[in-house]
Amino acid sequence: MSEEKANGHTDSHVLIRNAQMPEWNSEDPAEWLRKMDVNRHDFPYAEGLIADSFHEWYKRGSAMSFAESWRWCVFDYAGKWLAGSGGVIEPDNPLWEQVAAVSLRSARECTLQIEENGVETAFFVTPVSTRSKGEIFALFGCAMPAEHFAKGGRNAAEGMARHYATCFYRQFEHMFVADLASVHIHAKRESSRRSLLFQIVQRMHDNIDVDAVLTEVLASISTMYPDVRLTLYMSQDHRSAHPQVKPLPLDLDEEDVRIKAFKDGSTTMRSYSEADKLVEIGLPLGGKQGVYGVFHLVMRNPAHPEVDMPFLSMVASTAGTAFENAKLYERSNQIIRELRMTNELTRRLNQSLRLSETFEAAFEELIKMFETDYCCILHYNEERGGLEAVSCNYPGLINEIIETDRGIGGKVYASGETVIISEYAEQSGAKSKLMDFTESQSLIATPLSVGGEVRGAIMLAHREPHYFSYDNFRLLQAMAGHIGLAVGNALLHAEVHRLANRDSLTGLYARHYLDQSIKEKQSGDFCGTLVVVDIDHFKSVNDTYGHQKGDLILKQVSDILRLSIRQGDLAARWGGEELAVYLPQLGAEQAYSVAERIRERVQQETEPPVTVSCGIAEWNWTDEDKASVDSLFYRADMALYEAKNKGRNKIMIDRNTVEFRIRN
Ligand code: GH3
Ligand code: MG
Ligand code: MG
Repeated sequence: MSEEKANGHTDSHVLIRNAQMPEWNSEDPAEWLRKMDVNRHDFPYAEGLIADSFHEWYKRGSAMSFAESWRWCVFDYAGKWLAGSGGVIEPDNPLWEQVAAVSLRSARECTLQIEENGVETAFFVTPVSTRSKGEIFALFGCAMPAEHFAKGGRNAAEGMARHYATCFYRQFEHMFVADLASVHIHAKRESSRRSLLFQIVQRMHDNIDVDAVLTEVLASISTMYPDVRLTLYMSQDHRSAHPQVKPLPLDLDEEDVRIKAFKDGSTTMRSYSEADKLVEIGLPLGGKQGVYGVFHLVMRNPAHPEVDMPFLSMVASTAGTAFENAKLYERSNQIIRELRMTNELTRRLNQSLRLSETFEAAFEELIKMFETDYCCILHYNEERGGLEAVSCNYPGLINEIIETDRGIGGKVYASGETVIISEYAEQSGAKSKLMDFTESQSLIATPLSVGGEVRGAIMLAHREPHYFSYDNFRLLQAMAGHIGLAVGNALLHAEVHRLANRDSLTGLYARHYLDQSIKEKQSGDFCGTLVVVDIDHFKSVNDTYGHQKGDLILKQVSDILRLSIRQGDLAARWGGEELAVYLPQLGAEQAYSVAERIRERVQQETEPPVTVSCGIAEWNWTDEDKASVDSLFYRADMALYEAKNKGRNKIMIDRNTVEFRIRN
């Protein structure tokens, strides 16, 4: 084909041959297709639409017998070859895209005539535009013998281009309607999900019970996704009897979806089984204060992950808030309950200042408070040199002595540390009589401290394993503080009581206590004897050795008195250097031998040596004035006076007593 011939072709607006392609700078029609492309599909989809409608058009239009040798093709709105007749996807002549580019740039049809395989051929390209705005969305091409082109072929090709545009619109509208329908279905599903979510939220927030919230959310997810395998893994401090609730294992891999969701507090998804097309999802159950657990779902690859994932996350986060609210509610109830019980315990503890009653009150309140099977309070007994089970509802242990470094109780006492055991049979630590005898599995034990010093231990046991919660343990510690305080008060009270009745120098009972005790005994006993003991020439002992030494001798004599009598007898400081011994249910003769023992020991054991004189008086239930303690003292004193007169280091029985004996 010659240059001139080409230029001479009147219908062609632009004729090019080996011409430089101008820079493409007009408004990009792709923009329009992108806008048109309502279904958020990107570029390849639009190409597909142009090519598909071309193939459809070709199937219909190829019936034209006169055009059998013609070739047809389509370009996209950027002038790129998309498809050719008979499904050709590569341009059958490199000229095509040049012609298309010119047509696109000029926005008009363009024809190029060249000789091809010995035939003068017309390459004709025309833009295909939108109906409303006339924007180019594709280019339609046809190559035919130049001879046909001149004789109406051009018109036929233009007609075909219009037919193609109709096919395109048909396809486009079809796609548009399908898309609309899908949007509609999507919206419907979304609205049903929203209403479900709303119901779930409402139901969950209606529950103020922690377990009910969990049951509700598990049921909701299972309703939404019937095929899902769902488990809720809770952090260690939550126990639940629900079969789908399990404790979160601590030994999981860092990459595990459960651990990731728990640690990061965000939804995590991972392929579970490629072959079965299963995914696993970890959804955190968390609120404002932290993450409490993880929902673990194993399900088929979700069909609409962009809908399912936010939905599941929303359900989980709603559950987290509801759970947290229920937990806070439960916690505040728990605190109120604890306060009430603390109140009750302290009220009970303050009712008595007697140690045994304090332990009994503590024991009863602890059993009630913890609803536990067994309680055992151990208290260090100095005389018996071990921990005494002062209160215990296992009869075999009451008043038993436990060595201070043996068993769990001994360990708690010795170390001052608390002990928690959730499965006694499984543990390899110290053994416990309480646990063994009662066949218990759960234990919480805490030291019992009085004024900062460990004085015992409190042990609570239950037959069920994992019975006590961390809150129980904390509560016991708080209660142990109150009990320790009450025990301290009772001990202090007992000590004050003891001191009030004792003489501080000698450690013997004070005179008023002796007076009162004799009075009490006289109302119940048949008889009793009073021995008054006075140190001889004590004044000169003081004068010789000084008062301090005198005090020491007084103490020595007092100790001898204490050691010479039996339990139940009373030794007292009667005043100054005068001491007294009261022997209940004993006659003067027997008292005499006690006094004689005292006299001898004083003589032998005191340093510097002193002697004592004793006066003895007995009362008898037949006495007229038996009720008078004063008279008993008076008579004993008289006998003492006599002993002094008789040369000291002597024992005399009161005259009346002797006379009474002689008379009878
Ligand atoms: P006797 O009883 O043998 O007649 O002679 P005595 O020297 O003991 O006589 P008296 O009862 O008159 O004197 C008691 C003395 O005991 C007077 C006092 O110095 C002394 N005394 C009394 N109470 C105490 C005390 O608590 N400590 C000391 N060191 N001496 C005391
Ligand atoms: Mg004296
Ligand atoms: Mg005296």
